[in-house]
Amino acid sequence: MKKNPFISFIVCLFALILGVGGGAVGITYATMPETEELVVGEEVYYTYNGTGVSNVPLDSAGQGLSVHFLELGNKYTGDCTYIKYGDVDILIDCGSKSSSISTVSEYLKTYMGEDNKIDYCIVTHAHTDHYAGFATGTKVQGIYDLFDFGTIIDFGSATNKDKDSGMLKKYIDNRDDAIERCDAEYFDVSVSALKGNNKIYNIGANNEVQLEILYNRYYNHKINGTENNYSVCVMLKFDDKEFLFTGDLEEHGSSAETYLLEDNESLKDIANSSDGVELYKAGHHGSSTSSSKNFIDAIKPEVVCVCCCAGSPEYTDDVDKMFPTTSFIETIAPHTQDIFVTSLCVDWKNDEYTSMNGNIVVIAIAEQEKLGINCSNNDQILRKQEWFNRTITVDGIERAMRTWPPNGVVID
Ligand SMILES: [Zn+2]
Repeated sequence: MKKNPFISFIVCLFALILGVGGGAVGITYATMPETEELVVGEEVYYTYNGTGVSNVPLDSAGQGLSVHFLELGNKYTGDCTYIKYGDVDILIDCGSKSSSISTVSEYLKTYMGEDNKIDYCIVTHAHTDHYAGFATGTKVQGIYDLFDFGTIIDFGSATNKDKDSGMLKKYIDNRDDAIERCDAEYFDVSVSALKGNNKIYNIGANNEVQLEILYNRYYNHKINGTENNYSVCVMLKFDDKEFLFTGDLEEHGSSAETYLLEDNESLKDIANSSDGVELYKAGHHGSSTSSSKNFIDAIKPEVVCVCCCAGSPEYTDDVDKMFPTTSFIETIAPHTQDIFVTSLCVDWKNDEYTSMNGNIVVIAIAEQEKLGINCSNNDQILRKQEWFNRTITVDGIERAMRTWPPNGVVID
């Protein structure tokens, strides 16, 4: 069971005050990740033996690319994805609350080099479950204060929120301070992204990794719909493998996923191929409003990672719509059973939550066909988790929390 997040926050604040007072010793956070972690450079073997994922060693020579979906140190829904390739560090989002900062920053420091530099920082959209870790007042250090930055990529003006007030103003102030302090490059998708001219960052000595900022029609068109549809969408390519991150992009009522498919050559190529993406970060935390059938049938994911606190009533009391939703599972199931979920809600009212898979680390090794998976809590796929198979009563009828659809992949 995890700590009460309020207590963690107070402990964290106290540590922050101590750290500031300590001067030369710098800032020390008291909240450490509670789960065992991999250390890059050690030879670690994946323990997951399910279909579709091979047991391959973490490449100690640093040729592998690892994608980490992080737990956030509290019960709230949010995204934080860390990607490492050699000495290049990429961060996509940091939700869900300011109390996540210590958990995330300690994790990052475990993996990052001494330069303390996030080479590419992407903030997908103006919802706090994606940017809260960057948006702090002057007395609390956030991700923008704790690290150096090479390139910052964000939604820019692609938002319906008031940029001059509240948390978003703090976010923008902190971002601008970081850009100035680090002399960082800034890429504002709302003014820079042009259809057919996607921004691609080449990474590695031989440009073996490509970070492509996909074109999203919402970046520079005000279309009615949720803020989620302004999400910065990213395709990462390495060794013929493709990793897709769509933030909270939705489909229902907006067609944003359809637009993404229509407007990006790299997605069209996948849609026209028998092969799909190797990894898909479940859009919008496994919501029923994202991961539409048309979209998932086009991208055909092999491994799906969901950043959420499973079964949380944070947004709804309808158990089928709690993340990861019943309809999401039904849509993914014909393509893969390799679904992993970060956290699990135990008792919302009492602030109790725990790890499901925990921190999920997906590793791609050059010339290894399959991805490796190593999670900090357990490596079981979603349909094998106790939560998935838990018996509940809905409208007086006993049933499982989730069921695997009849047309889903058959488990061994
Ligand atoms: Zn979100």
